[in-house]
Amino acid sequence: MITKRAVTTRMLLRQLAILLLVSLIPALGAPGAGAEAPQVRVVGDGVVTRVTLFAPAKLEAEVFLGEDHSSQSIIVALPGTPARAGDRKPVNPSTGVKSYSWQDGTLRLDLAHPMMVARKLDLPPAGSEPRHRLVLDLARVSDVRFARRAERDGERLARRRAKAASRLANAGPAAGATGPDGNYVIVIDPGHGGKDPGALAVDGSEEKTIVLKAALELRDLLMQDYRYDVRLTRDEDIYIPLEKRVSLARDWGADLFISLHADAAGSSEVEGASVYTLSQRGEGRVDREARKNDWTMPIEGGVPEDVSGILVDLIKRETKTNSGLFAQLLLPELEKAGPVLRNTHRNAGFYVLLAPDVPAVLLEIGFLTNRADARRLASPEGRRASMVAVASAIDAYFDRQDTIYAQN
Ligand SMILES: [Zn+2]
Repeated sequence: MITKRAVTTRMLLRQLAILLLVSLIPALGAPGAGAEAPQVRVVGDGVVTRVTLFAPAKLEAEVFLGEDHSSQSIIVALPGTPARAGDRKPVNPSTGVKSYSWQDGTLRLDLAHPMMVARKLDLPPAGSEPRHRLVLDLARVSDVRFARRAERDGERLARRRAKAASRLANAGPAAGATGPDGNYVIVIDPGHGGKDPGALAVDGSEEKTIVLKAALELRDLLMQDYRYDVRLTRDEDIYIPLEKRVSLARDWGADLFISLHADAAGSSEVEGASVYTLSQRGEGRVDREARKNDWTMPIEGGVPEDVSGILVDLIKRETKTNSGLFAQLLLPELEKAGPVLRNTHRNAGFYVLLAPDVPAVLLEIGFLTNRADARRLASPEGRRASMVAVASAIDAYFDRQDTIYAQN
């Protein structure tokens, strides 16, 4: 449910974002004076193609898909590269790239057919190659997928600009937090760790170890998609207090927080995954914990108190809606991967779900007290199936967020 006021706010923000997008595109990568353009090499068969940029120093790149009329392109923003418009250089079209050109600190790759950046690599000087290399591996995709991503990239750019502008104006977040390079920030929180082993499995293994393995596997899955910036609250066997987990997610500007756990029950019969979002009772703790831990919203300060109150309520409501939405997307995916508990979308007062402005779920990937579940979670294939389910739900969630945003 979105109130009329919320829609009006969103519409205004969107209009602001579009204005900024139009006026700021040329300033995308601050051009360097007199800098040499990196050398570009394109090799591949158009299904898988590698673009390599050679430069004397490390290149910081941000990648966007662009689509206008019937032409598709990949735009690589590279601060420090030449401002002047260069000639369009032709490329063998069997690579899937027809030509490239430099303008305003960006490299534009004109495509023969739709391709996306599947992987981005920085390679330092090595062996006989004294230069830094930025490698972009392109993979062929469908027109529909390209178009959706191109639309989203336009929004991503607009959001990034709007956010930067609103930060300047001290007026709070424009429309959704994104990471340092404009990607979606996903925080995976493997439960327990260190002195806190969590639940004990029938085979003697510990929850903290199983969920850490799952988290690392989920990270690897998500890293294949360049649009995500994936962070873990822990990537080793250490103890981290609950409030610290939430603070980390907020400090990183998380767009989504997923806490991974494995359950234990009195009965060895109980099996299956389950998903929790914050309960009504838990909601009552949000304000108190936010005050205690200094989880201030970016809106507070510089705005009249009553307006700030409305915006804070709006953010909290949207966070709750989005947590529920993600849980609803996750359940059918989990059902494909293994058993799920009946009535599995539950509400609970778990501490890690208390951030007022980060959509969050807690996922119990199974019952360690159940023999079949324990066996499933002990095997790489079993865990992988669960994590593929989570990754699919994450994809669906962010695709949907973009659609909602585009409609307002
Ligand atoms: Zn747990």
